[in-house]
Amino acid sequence: MKILVINAGSSSLKYQLIDMDTHEVMAKGLCERIGIDGSRLVHKYGDDQKVTIEKPMKNHAEAIQMVIDALVNPEYGVIKSMDEIGAVGHRVVHGGEFFSKSVIIDEGVKKAIEACNDLAPLHNPPNLIGINACESIMPNVKQVAVFDTAFHQTMPPKAYMYALPYEYYEKYKIRKYGFHGTSHKYVSMKAAEYLGKDIKDLKIITCHLGNGSSITAVDGGKSVDTSMGFTPLAGVPMGTRTGLIDPAIIPYIMEKENMDTKQINNLINKKSGVLGVSGVSSDFRDLSDKSEEGDEKSKLALEMFGYGVKRYIGTYAAAMGGVDVIVFTAGVGENDNVLREYITKDMDFMGIKIDPAKNNVRGTVDITAPDSKVKVLVIPTNEELMIAEDTKKLVEG
Ligand code: ADP
Repeated sequence: MKILVINAGSSSLKYQLIDMDTHEVMAKGLCERIGIDGSRLVHKYGDDQKVTIEKPMKNHAEAIQMVIDALVNPEYGVIKSMDEIGAVGHRVVHGGEFFSKSVIIDEGVKKAIEACNDLAPLHNPPNLIGINACESIMPNVKQVAVFDTAFHQTMPPKAYMYALPYEYYEKYKIRKYGFHGTSHKYVSMKAAEYLGKDIKDLKIITCHLGNGSSITAVDGGKSVDTSMGFTPLAGVPMGTRTGLIDPAIIPYIMEKENMDTKQINNLINKKSGVLGVSGVSSDFRDLSDKSEEGDEKSKLALEMFGYGVKRYIGTYAAAMGGVDVIVFTAGVGENDNVLREYITKDMDFMGIKIDPAKNNVRGTVDITAPDSKVKVLVIPTNEELMIAEDTKKLVEG
């Protein structure tokens, strides 16, 4: 079965066509500037071949039609007709408390996704537009929604409630939801598979470290706590997001700087994190370079990030009553051996020790030192494959 995975943003749309018999990515690409002047589709196929098609895309339906046209194109397409697409899997950011797993999309599911619009105003509306567009172009193909939040719905109330008056939970559903769920689920499953163990017997801490970062405690295959919260702003300092700060800082800055809610939101989401501290960049590669050149603020930003991750590892080991495996994944987690070393340094008191030589290798690797009790793994994440796997399972019943 071939599955089309769609990740629709407000003005962009990413796609992958995956052959589920081989797990091969047959084609993938990105529609940019949907509804804006200069829209274009970048389509990748074969061995790193690429074609860019510049054509106006007024809306997501036109973008998806262009994706299908590219997929069946005699020159750079990878299938003969649209009928070869067995199902479509959609990444949906917020499933609120409605969805604890992936589902086949029907009218009720779409209503529930819409009901979560308030919780993810930048993401859920375009996700829904992508779903509607696919439905109109491929009315006979089953569509599945895979939620970033679903994996974390197993958290107990003591982990997901905030100590605000209870009525705010009842009125506005203010609670911790957690994100990156597809990635945490995927790498925790892969870790168990890699170690040849049943996931039910493992306490795993998954560290998804990228532009946005989150750390999750996975006990027996279930998320029991995670560092992101009501929004993806919570947790460790990120590229441009603050991570966890004392909430009293918000009204304090608003008063001092005479800021409104829009301005403060912009500050804590787009101007903070390692960018805000370093004043240099939100990109971890730039920060490593600058830090090596002796830039003190870049070094501080990296240390704050690394220390933030270390604290969560300690917290979640305590939360689960131990830890068997730590997994590093995503852009920074998979590639930045210096930060991995920094994060795990001096943790042998908890049985965590990495092997510096193994830590320099790339790909799926076991970087555990021989005398470490806890396994430390680097596992490349693959959210698209996870979405495709869930989609296949559901449509095959
Ligand atoms: P996103 O959250 O946007 O999906 P990614 O998981 O792709 O992000 O991670 C992007 C981050 O990974 C960037 O900050 C980038 O600097 C960092 N990164 C990528 N490769 C490396 C590397 N070799 N060393 C350090 N950081 C890296």
